[in-house]
Amino acid sequence: MSLILSEIVTLRQHLNTLEHNPEVYCPNACIYCQEINIWRYGYYYRKPDRLNHGDESQNDIPIPRFQCVTCRRTFSTLPECIAPRRWYPWVIQQACIWLSLSGWSIQQIHRLFPTARSTLSRWICWFNEKFTQHQQVLCSRIPCMGYYSKLAPFWLYFFDSKPLSYAMILLHRSGLIVP
Ligand SMILES: [Zn+2]
Repeated sequence: MSLILSEIVTLRQHLNTLEHNPEVYCPNACIYCQEINIWRYGYYYRKPDRLNHGDESQNDIPIPRFQCVTCRRTFSTLPECIAPRRWYPWVIQQACIWLSLSGWSIQQIHRLFPTARSTLSRWICWFNEKFTQHQQVLCSRIPCMGYYSKLAPFWLYFFDSKPLSYAMILLHRSGLIVP
């Protein structure tokens, strides 16, 4: 189980923050039992940099872990830019979803991004299937989103001013499981 630290929107920013200000990742209390005494518990590593390769790649990216002194369970804090359950960071998913909402076919998007067509289809299906749920939560947090009742206008308007990762933080905080 993970927490998500908002406003860390790039991998570079995450690495800098971890180096200079690592305490911001430590939660105030255990996410399972609310105990306030928590230990740092090393890191685990992820490979979210899907754009750069070889020496240019920023992988592997450390994700700080913590352990509760009372219940002994461990948990981690992800930066906003990394999706909890997907390989690709939110910024790439947003670009692909934006193109799809703007009328591009999966074939066309696939020519631009190295993402497998099945992965692109999965993202777009997920966006369609969850729309009502996502819309409900986001409208309760951002009232002006209530003007848009259809999928494409809703998200295109949202992406005009905010990233997909921010929407995912709001959904995560409301208790929805984000991929
Ligand atoms: Zn605990």
